[in-house]
Amino acid sequence: MNTAVHKFGGSSLSSAARYHAVANIIISHCQAGDSVVVSAAGKTTNTLVKLWLCYQQNDSQGTLDVIKLLKNHQVELISELLIDELQETALQKLNDELELIATLAQQQELVEAQLLAHGEVWSARLLAQYLTQLEHKANAFDARDLLLLSGGQLQHEKNQKSCQVLNSEQFNVVTGFIAKNESGETVTLGRNGSDYSATLIARYCNAQSVTIWTDTQGVYSTDPRKVKQAIKYAKVCREQANLLARLGNPVLHAKTLTPLKDTNIKLVVRSSFDSHSACTEIVKKGNAKQKHFLTTLDNHDLVKIEQLIEGEVGELSQLIQHTLHHFELDSETYLLIPAAYTHIVINHLSGRANLVESNLFGLGIVCPNDIAHQLTQQAAKILQKYNINIRFAFSQKDMPGNEYGLVLCEQAFDTDLLTILHEELISDSQELAVVVAGLGNVGATFITQLEKQLVRLNYLLPVKLVGLVRSENMLFCSDGIKIHNWLEQWQTSAIAYDNKSLIAALEQLDYEHKVVIDITASEDFSLLYPDFAAQDCHLISANKYAGTAHTTWYNALKEKLYERNLKWRYNTSVGAGLPINFALNDLQYSGDKIERLLGVFSGTLSWLCCEYDGSVPFSELLLKAKDMGYTEPDPREDLSGRDVQRKLLILARELGLTLDLDDISLTPMMPADLAQGDWLSFLEKRDKLDAFMSDKLIQAKKEDLVLRYVAELNLQQDKLVAKVALSAVKKDEPLAGLKAGDNIFVINSLWYQDNALVIQGPGAGQEVTAAGIHSDLYWLTHSLIK
Ligand code: ADP
Ligand code: ASP
Ligand code: MG
Repeated sequence: MNTAVHKFGGSSLSSAARYHAVANIIISHCQAGDSVVVSAAGKTTNTLVKLWLCYQQNDSQGTLDVIKLLKNHQVELISELLIDELQETALQKLNDELELIATLAQQQELVEAQLLAHGEVWSARLLAQYLTQLEHKANAFDARDLLLLSGGQLQHEKNQKSCQVLNSEQFNVVTGFIAKNESGETVTLGRNGSDYSATLIARYCNAQSVTIWTDTQGVYSTDPRKVKQAIKYAKVCREQANLLARLGNPVLHAKTLTPLKDTNIKLVVRSSFDSHSACTEIVKKGNAKQKHFLTTLDNHDLVKIEQLIEGEVGELSQLIQHTLHHFELDSETYLLIPAAYTHIVINHLSGRANLVESNLFGLGIVCPNDIAHQLTQQAAKILQKYNINIRFAFSQKDMPGNEYGLVLCEQAFDTDLLTILHEELISDSQELAVVVAGLGNVGATFITQLEKQLVRLNYLLPVKLVGLVRSENMLFCSDGIKIHNWLEQWQTSAIAYDNKSLIAALEQLDYEHKVVIDITASEDFSLLYPDFAAQDCHLISANKYAGTAHTTWYNALKEKLYERNLKWRYNTSVGAGLPINFALNDLQYSGDKIERLLGVFSGTLSWLCCEYDGSVPFSELLLKAKDMGYTEPDPREDLSGRDVQRKLLILARELGLTLDLDDISLTPMMPADLAQGDWLSFLEKRDKLDAFMSDKLIQAKKEDLVLRYVAELNLQQDKLVAKVALSAVKKDEPLAGLKAGDNIFVINSLWYQDNALVIQGPGAGQEVTAAGIHSDLYWLTHSLIK
């Protein structure tokens, strides 16, 4: 069965209203069988720690006062949430427990972990009862019955078995933070440990996902409660999240990721205050770019330690219930300890630890390896500018090899200072990832041109080529493909292509902006555009199929792109690099009204019509064009006029007309029956084509006209005229003066009434087409700058 684990932290359960909100999230996001791991409500664990300290200091009045505080908080929650018998029993049970605590304290028999465990026991019980009251099947579980540690080690096999009691027919509300040892005593997993409980239970239950619901929308570049400009990241890789946690950042407990190692369990951090907002996914290495983070450490002592034994940091952090950061500097080992616990650690290490500095405040910089050193220096400079006394500033490599920076100072980082550091050190790294599909002549030329063009684009926004796609293989490299040796990379690293893998690869691309550039001529590929849009990809197409697809499909695609604020450029689908789409858009945006659009949109038919003077049979010219590579493999595809019809439809839609291909009348440049049969059978009947064209030419010459294969859109008449056909045109018309092979667009509008606006030039060719695609890419990049 597919189960999920949802963890709600103390911040999500701080009041009756929050319990209510959490219950609603569970009801709407969870299914029976899921586990809901809870922390103690609000700051309950802190209060329990206070109680423990009063008890240790033999402060009996203080102990009683804190018990009263706990009681008031719990009674308030229970009274507001539960009714009738459920409320009565809950209050009675709470009373019994608090009385027992008071008695044990009096008898000097309190046990720390057992005391701290109450926070989670209370919240699990209350949430399960509240769900039951809302008529949902729910049961509370004490994690001490599920998680066993022996000699400090989790007993995975046993725990997996124990977790089988979690019931598939109900919500299983489990206490976070606590476990038991081989003697049946309570142990805790360290402050913030419920995150770890959640991933452990997910592993033991083979769950598919773990959602850490908290009071921020995800993992940010720095604490979003301190710095308003903090950037929320959609994806953070496990290694960076882990490093952040080991530097004491509270958003995830340091061990949270350990149980997920070698599993595909999805980990998400999201807000229980705003359950619909976009969240952060913690992904495996390679599925996310390295991000920038700033994290702070408050009031820590620096201790030098001799001969650190393996596993000792873990033991010490278990002892003080806090994350401990350790590092090597000049061949010495140092520990950063929350100041309140330094004496415990030093005592424990009896003689092996020396206090080097006390009351330090730390700034951790987590970032891509190559800039850790530079950012640390930069941070130090900024701090000096603000007269902050720096004790240490260095960059370090952690065990998996991630470099990070640490600056230790004598003063705390207040909100203003952190905001300045964030502004100076963390860039909102807007980047555009480019995926190119179709590596034929135009595609390959586009890639070659891209190397130079990137320099220009990078002035606007960092742009990276990250994917290359062909019909059978594809190559994805989320850090960027090196363009100068893409072929080599292709040969060593390309993998088999199929639609599903392509979509998955696009999904994994962790970029603010992505674009798929379709230089294929494949209709099947164009059918994937809605899937690309669903992966938040902008589109650039040289391919004409999507732009000429049926209105319903086309409009749905446009709608989907619009909803997601995605752009679609297809400048080269008509007239290759000629700026016809730009011109039409520009005229309309500046208040003009297009009345007629006329033109020759096919380079092949342009060449044939210009060259055909009757001196040789038309079919001979056609075969010559085929030999020179001017035609489609079967030149009848050109003669059919279908390509011109598609181009006219694209332009008509550009003018805002709702047309389909069928609305454009099409007369091929050959007798209809020649379209049937294979190429050889056509060759046998070629004189039919010759006679057809010869008739047209004689007729035209008689009237002193020339032949052109013309596309026309006329909006002046009552009824729209949209047609594609062979026409005889006057010799003084722009269409007549066309150079063989060129395309021409003749635009009449309000402002260009008698004297038309004419765009003319090569409408095909790999260089100009590739350059036209670059024009779209430049436009897109420009439009993305904020
Ligand atoms: P919970 O009670 O849900 O376990 P915590 O208080 O343990 O929540 O952790 C969430 C808090 O972590 C947030 O309220 C936020 O103030 C703090 N925090 C610090 N750094 C970050 C960061 N980079 N991204 C998100 N939250 C952060
Ligand atoms: N309640 C515990 C704490 O406050 C565990 C947790 O919140 O994850 O540290
Ligand atoms: Mg927490």
